[in-house]
Amino acid sequence: MNIQNRNTDLRSESETARPLLIDPFARRIDYLRVSVTDRCDFRCVYCMSEDMAFLPKANVLSLEELDRLCSAFVARGVTKLRLTGGEPLVRRGIMTLVESLSRHLKSGALRELTLTTNGSQLTKYAAELKAHGVERINVSLDTLDADKFRAITRWGDFGKVMAGIDAAQAAGLHVKINAVALKGVNEDEIRPMVEWAHGRGMDITFIEVMPLGDVGEQRLDQYLPLSMVRARLAERLTLEDDAYRTGGPARYVRARETGGLIGFITPLTHNFCESCNRVRITCTGTLYMCLGQEDAADLRAPLRASESDEPLYEAIERAIARKPKGHDFVIDRRKQRPAVQRHMSVTGG
Ligand code: SAM
Ligand code: SF4
Repeated sequence: MNIQNRNTDLRSESETARPLLIDPFARRIDYLRVSVTDRCDFRCVYCMSEDMAFLPKANVLSLEELDRLCSAFVARGVTKLRLTGGEPLVRRGIMTLVESLSRHLKSGALRELTLTTNGSQLTKYAAELKAHGVERINVSLDTLDADKFRAITRWGDFGKVMAGIDAAQAAGLHVKINAVALKGVNEDEIRPMVEWAHGRGMDITFIEVMPLGDVGEQRLDQYLPLSMVRARLAERLTLEDDAYRTGGPARYVRARETGGLIGFITPLTHNFCESCNRVRITCTGTLYMCLGQEDAADLRAPLRASESDEPLYEAIERAIARKPKGHDFVIDRRKQRPAVQRHMSVTGG
C-alpha cells in the first residue's frame, strides 16, 4: 500500500479518544520535527560557528524522554516524524530510539518516520534504518567538489558522505538531496548537481540561507536567491511546474530532460506559512511553533513532572493555541543581525 494514501487518521484504539492538534488558523499539526542532539561532526559555515558551545548533556532529553514526547504527539495525531539535529546519527544509541518509534509505524498511527542527515554515518546505519521502517531520508549536500565540501562543512569528509549515499541507496532507502544555495560557492554547480542527483534517481531541493543564529559570516555574503538558481537552470533544462507537495515549504518543478524533481525552499522570497502543518522540538524539549519566531514552550518540565502524560498534553495544547500565522525573516542591509538568535542546529532543520 502507498503510505501517502493511507488514512491519515489511523490511530491505535487507546489513542483515538485524543483530539487532533489544530492551531488558531485551522491548520492541522500532523508533522513533528525533532532535534535529537545539537551536536554535529561537521561545522557548516551557514549553520554553526567553528567554536560552537554545545548544551551540557544533563539538559538534553534522554532517548526514553524523546520517545515519550514523540509518542505524545503521535497520540495527538502527528503522522509524520522527522529526526534531525545537529546530526541525528551522532547521537549515541540513536537506533534504539528509531527502533522504539517504529512501533507507531507498525500500529499505523505514524505514516512516516524519516530523518535529515549530513550522510557521514550512513554506511554504518543505512541498513538498520531501513529495517526499522524508514523509507526515505534527506541527505544534505551542497557541492560535488571535495575541496569545496571541506570548505563549506569545515570538518566533513566528502568520500564518507558519498559512500553513505551509496549505502543508503543499496539498502533501499529513497534519498532526497538538500542543497543550500550559496553565493559564489556552489552557484556554478547547480545544474551539475541536478543532473547528478537525477541520474541516481534522487530528487533534489535547493534551500535559501535563512538568518538563524550568529555564524560569524555576513548573511548577505551567503544569500543567493533561488529565483536566480531557477533562472540559471531554465537556460539548459525545461522546467515544468509540478503539483507534488509535502505540505511543507518546498515548491517543485520537474526537469523534462532528466525526469526528476527539483524543489525550491524560498523562505525569504516567498511566504510559505499559510499551509504550515509542522512544529519543532529541540533536544531539550523546547517546542517551537514556528522556525522563524522566538516564542516557545517548555515541554521538559511537564514531561519530568509526572508519569502521567496529561500535563504534557495540556502544555502541548496551550502551545499550539499560540502558533503564529507566519514568520518575519528578513535579510537586509540595515538589519545585519540574525532574525532569530538560535542556530538551525538547535531547532533542527
Ligand atoms: N545535520 C543534518 C544535516 O545537515 O542534514 C540535519 C540538521 S541540519 C541543521 C538540517 C538542514 O538545515 C541542512 O540541510 C542544512 O543545510 C540546513 N541549514 C542549516 N543552517 C541553515 C541556514 N542558516 N539556512 C538554510 N538552511 C540551513
Ligand atoms: Fe551539522 Fe547539519 Fe549544521 Fe552542517 S547543517 S553543521 S551537518 S547540523
